[in-house]
Amino acid sequence: MKIEELESFLKKEDGFDVFVIGKSVLGKNIYSVNKEFDKNFRWVIITGGMHAREHLSTDLICRFISLARDKKFNFNISFVPLVNPDGVTLCCDGCCGMSEEQIKQLHKINGGDDFSLFKANINGVDLNNNWSARWHKKFSTATKPASQGFYGDMAMSEPEVQALAKWTEKLRPFLTINYHLKGEEIYYDFFQDEERMKRDLLIASVFAKSSGYKIKSTQFSSSGGYKDWCVEKFMIPSLTIELGDDKFSHPYPKSEIENIFEKNKHIYEDIEEALKIFNSFEKL
Ligand SMILES: [Zn+2]
Repeated sequence: MKIEELESFLKKEDGFDVFVIGKSVLGKNIYSVNKEFDKNFRWVIITGGMHAREHLSTDLICRFISLARDKKFNFNISFVPLVNPDGVTLCCDGCCGMSEEQIKQLHKINGGDDFSLFKANINGVDLNNNWSARWHKKFSTATKPASQGFYGDMAMSEPEVQALAKWTEKLRPFLTINYHLKGEEIYYDFFQDEERMKRDLLIASVFAKSSGYKIKSTQFSSSGGYKDWCVEKFMIPSLTIELGDDKFSHPYPKSEIENIFEKNKHIYEDIEEALKIFNSFEKL
């Protein structure tokens, strides 16, 4: 789902507080859709659309927003459905409406004029490698702006990352859930101490059980991710959930949204369970 579709969806939804938490490189709004029940409740942040070609995650979050409309929870929710609006538009529409110079630059970054597999933001920085969590400590083949995998010239350089960072610092969530695509896997670890590792694995297991997705360790194969940053900076659990069966390739078929929703629709029961686990460890 592109930014225009998200904006028309948000116009129709009521019962939520909508905030613009920042702007993309090209000046598009980055939204948070909040459901705050009580000032004393802990927050959960749910993100999607960070990798351009994985924009079905934005559609899923819109389903979750609708699902939450008449519900009451013992936690507050901030949905950030589309972290990378420029990238998603590029992925869906190509360089439509851009200047000659921009088009030339983007073709160079992308290595061609087919952007349907593009993951990065419009600067060619991978927004899930740009975070200051052991940034650049792992290997990527991309050493310059690219369609995926480039860490950026310095950590936290991109406005989309800065916006989400500031927002996360403001809300101080007890959990963040980050939807990507694809593989039906859940990642949770990033150099936690033993107790927190135990806690975060338990929480990941709740989501794995309800979705049927597999838990996978990525501690030694990822760095500079939002999940990594949340785990390291706030010492909270943070899950990257890779939606969608691997049998389909990108561009991922839109019709699969139903199956993806079916497997993930118990999200709110899972968060409630996660909060219980989180609180039980906090008392230790
Ligand atoms: Zn991704």
